[in-house]
Amino acid sequence: CGHVSQIIFLKKTEVRHNLSSWIFYFCAMANTEDFFKKVIAHSKEYGYIFASSEIYDGLSAVYDYAQNGVELKKNIREYWWRSMVYMNQNIVGLDSAILMHPKIWKASGHVDAFNDPLIDNKDSKKRYRADVLVEDYAEKIEQKAQKEIAKAKKRFGDSFDQAQFEATNDRVLRYREEKQGILDRLARSLEAEDLADVKALIESLGIADPDSGSKNWTDVRQFNLMFGTKLGASADTATDLYLRPETAQGIFVNFLNVQKTGRMKIPFGIAQTGKAFRNEIVARQFIFRMREFEQMEMQFFVRPGEEMRWYDYWKQTRLKWHLSLGLGEENYRFHDHEKLAHYANAASDIEFNFPFGFKELEGIHSRTDFDLKQHEAFSGKKLQFFDPELNESYVPYVVETSIGLDRMFLAVLSHSLKEEVLEDGSQRTVLKLPFILAPTKAAILPLIKKDGLPELAKTIVAQLQWNFNVIYDEKDAVGRRYRRQDAAGTPYCITVDHQSLEDQTVTLRNRDTMDQIRVSIATLGEHMQESIAYQHWLS
Ligand code: ATP
Repeated sequence: CGHVSQIIFLKKTEVRHNLSSWIFYFCAMANTEDFFKKVIAHSKEYGYIFASSEIYDGLSAVYDYAQNGVELKKNIREYWWRSMVYMNQNIVGLDSAILMHPKIWKASGHVDAFNDPLIDNKDSKKRYRADVLVEDYAEKIEQKAQKEIAKAKKRFGDSFDQAQFEATNDRVLRYREEKQGILDRLARSLEAEDLADVKALIESLGIADPDSGSKNWTDVRQFNLMFGTKLGASADTATDLYLRPETAQGIFVNFLNVQKTGRMKIPFGIAQTGKAFRNEIVARQFIFRMREFEQMEMQFFVRPGEEMRWYDYWKQTRLKWHLSLGLGEENYRFHDHEKLAHYANAASDIEFNFPFGFKELEGIHSRTDFDLKQHEAFSGKKLQFFDPELNESYVPYVVETSIGLDRMFLAVLSHSLKEEVLEDGSQRTVLKLPFILAPTKAAILPLIKKDGLPELAKTIVAQLQWNFNVIYDEKDAVGRRYRRQDAAGTPYCITVDHQSLEDQTVTLRNRDTMDQIRVSIATLGEHMQESIAYQHWLS
């Protein structure tokens, strides 16, 4: 059920095991905004995410991960880490500090160039990213082209040749040309740091404040996104530091330490996950854009001249990783950059179909030898690799993969939230998280709270908790407990009944199919392991 579509549809599913009738699924999310609100409300109600400092009315764009959220986040991190570090003999991990020598940010270009162009609306007093206002405007034009394509698709049915239509239809071509013209001019003005032209572009397009409709804009100004802090107790001697805005620089400055102590040969990679901080001008869309967030980055060091091959390799490898989670191929697309950052010679984003449309989830960049050369220049230390095959030393080139853990969390959570109407007319909310990522793998439920059932259920908890995160739940009727676990995203419910006391078997209920099978308590772990093993997902 595509959450961004506004259609309601019914789909028959296969009947399996003891579920003897059709189940009807539907997607009744009236519109994307309602759906997104529902995701946010659900994540609070089921202990995934809370607003930071809530009892003090919150802190803008800062969030806390609650009891289930922390597990989901940990499992996503682990899924990434295993795929990078355990599955590649030439990639190792690192955990560098958040606070780093201030010269690092001068060398990396963050002090001078880590800016966003901002603009204020004089009437509403709201602040926006000027480039985002223009990009959103261009996206609306693209949506008009998409509408034309969708109409034609409907009209021509199976015989529709979309590529030919896009290449020849007058209206689509006109919309695309208009959009491209706007984006090109934006790119040119940003490249030339001609902020007056960015403002002129906003005015000539008649872009209004999305909140108030006012077109009364200030000039566009650059705004540095790094958070400053101080090291040291006394005000006179304290050193000015920054909270790191990305984890990548910790990898670059440790490049030679890792290469030497790990006896790494090029090509090799260093992976790191950790917090990063950016004083975002417009932090919105829940955990999509936060001021404190977590990144999962891998810098891959290669021979100069081989970077494009590795860039293509990592683009495909990272897409494959995303697809392995089963969130739907149609929900991903590449966005190759035309305007490149100062350090890159190629860059692409993997975009995901979030509840508010396709947006960047991960960036893949060919960063050349920019960072290592800059650190050589600023530190005065050589950061080179002696290549025994070539018998020469060089500064390696770098291909980076960088994904926001919180954005990945939002992608998984929002895609997984479904509303279903069962054939008896009852409705269930179910969080169809990939089993491997689910916070709790199984809930152990005694059918009733007496006759020795709770005691047996607790021995099952004790047996399973060595390998799985499981919980015990005895409150309410078993049907309600199933619904509660469905909504929390728990893949399995294990129910202990009177038969269990006689033959040491229990029912194992699957969250998605709602099938229940009877299995012996001794084999529960094996049954669950089948669908939760990394090998099953990552291979
Ligand atoms: P955007 O264009 O959305 O600001 P970016 O291009 O600045 O992102 P990168 O610097 O490439 O992002 O960072 C790598 C990844 O870190 C992004 O793909 C995204 O998933 C994540 N990320 C960046 N900024 C934030 C943020 N403020 N909140 C949450 N995640 C973020």
